[in-house]
Amino acid sequence: MAASHPSAPAPTVTEARTALLKHAARDAMDYLEGVDARPVAPTPKDVAALSALRTPLPPGPTSAEAVLHLLHQYGSPATVAKNNGRFFGFVNGGCLPAALAASWMVSAWDQNAAFYVQSPTAITLEEIALEWVRDLLGLPVGTGGAVVTGATMANLTALAAARHALLARAGWDAEADGLFGAPPITVVVGEEAHASVLKALGLLGLGRKRVVRVPVDGQGRMRADAMPHLDAMTILCLQAGNVNTGAFDPAPALTLAARAAGAWIHVDGAFGLWATVSPDYKRLTQGFDQADSWATDAHKWPNIGYDCGIALVRDPAHLRAAMSIEASYLALGEHREPSDYNPELSRRARGVELWAGLRSLGRSGMAQIVERTSSHARQFAAGLRAAGYKVLNDVVINQVLVSFGSPEKTLRTIARLQADGTCWCGSTVWQGQTAMRISVSSWATTKEDVDLSLAAMLRAAEG
Ligand SMILES: *Cc1c(COP(=O)(O)O)cnc(C)c1O
Repeated sequence: MAASHPSAPAPTVTEARTALLKHAARDAMDYLEGVDARPVAPTPKDVAALSALRTPLPPGPTSAEAVLHLLHQYGSPATVAKNNGRFFGFVNGGCLPAALAASWMVSAWDQNAAFYVQSPTAITLEEIALEWVRDLLGLPVGTGGAVVTGATMANLTALAAARHALLARAGWDAEADGLFGAPPITVVVGEEAHASVLKALGLLGLGRKRVVRVPVDGQGRMRADAMPHLDAMTILCLQAGNVNTGAFDPAPALTLAARAAGAWIHVDGAFGLWATVSPDYKRLTQGFDQADSWATDAHKWPNIGYDCGIALVRDPAHLRAAMSIEASYLALGEHREPSDYNPELSRRARGVELWAGLRSLGRSGMAQIVERTSSHARQFAAGLRAAGYKVLNDVVINQVLVSFGSPEKTLRTIARLQADGTCWCGSTVWQGQTAMRISVSSWATTKEDVDLSLAAMLRAAEG
């Protein structure tokens, strides 16, 4: 490499990398500092500019500095601004500063979190974080878990354990012999079960359509009076936090009946389960601790950053039986090996970010996110109602569904709001009614963000 000046030696590999990473950190910080002033959704012009990156793979190398420059020049403007506290789409959190910093460290460490020998740090922190999550969610001591990519995978992982347990009970080895010829399992879900539960059931060979669907009430809660017959070959899937309304299935009654019947109870609590942490909202999650397995997300309400889902199973032996892997070169020690509890073998050390985020929040910090975002949701609902618009759900946690009139007017309002850029909300159809969905899930949302966003919503609806 030619030095720019005869007396300046070429930088070493380490020096060049240090310079690059300082540059990347500066770009990342510039991005975050500017995120408040820019529209939440990228402009069509910035999205169109991404096409500059659609080149054939260059035949030879490009300097890492030039690659980083392309990312920041074209990539940053076309992102959706998730970290400015005014993104209310889907059920997406933001990323806590401690989790973001930890993810930088995790990338620098480049650890493979499959086995203890590959990373005592990653495996130890993941174990600690899983135990904190179990404790925060009020689940039984001894519950086992896996840190996966999201609640879809957490549902899959937990339901694989359920499948194992029920078939083992009937004298069938699901992992060895598959499902052809196996004793049948009945799966019971609510009419408003999240699509990811059905997807997981499909992947597991239990069938997306083979489920028994239980009618729900106007909030999407399973009706206890409409429960089908349950027995020891039944998996009952409950929901803690409907993705539209935020409503919780009536767990005390349902878990009592299901436990008496010997059924396996699984809870999809992607975000709602975290309400347990707040003394003000804990009553909503009563009874869910009676389940056999739970799926939740740390990238939603806890704001850990993507990707971070968690599967929890009361009896970890079932999870292990469903997930363990054996090979001659996997000579393992006495430690808990994530590869025995996770669908993946090689994996990112996302447990480190989980550990860091939770360590920074503490119990009260997590409770405050639940309380603050739910209070913001009530402020949205009150403001929209006061302006004459119809809020379709009981705002029990952080979710608000609002209709601005006809489906056309509601969709037009959402399109205007998204183009305005002050905030971002998406659409949904709730039990036949077209609505805008507001999910306040970010740690960063302030009362001022709500005021600004509410004003933008009213402008969009009147315009
Ligand atoms: C978000 C969500 C899921 C899916 O979670 P991913 O992390 O996106 O895979 C499942 N169930 C419920 C109730 C959800 O809110």
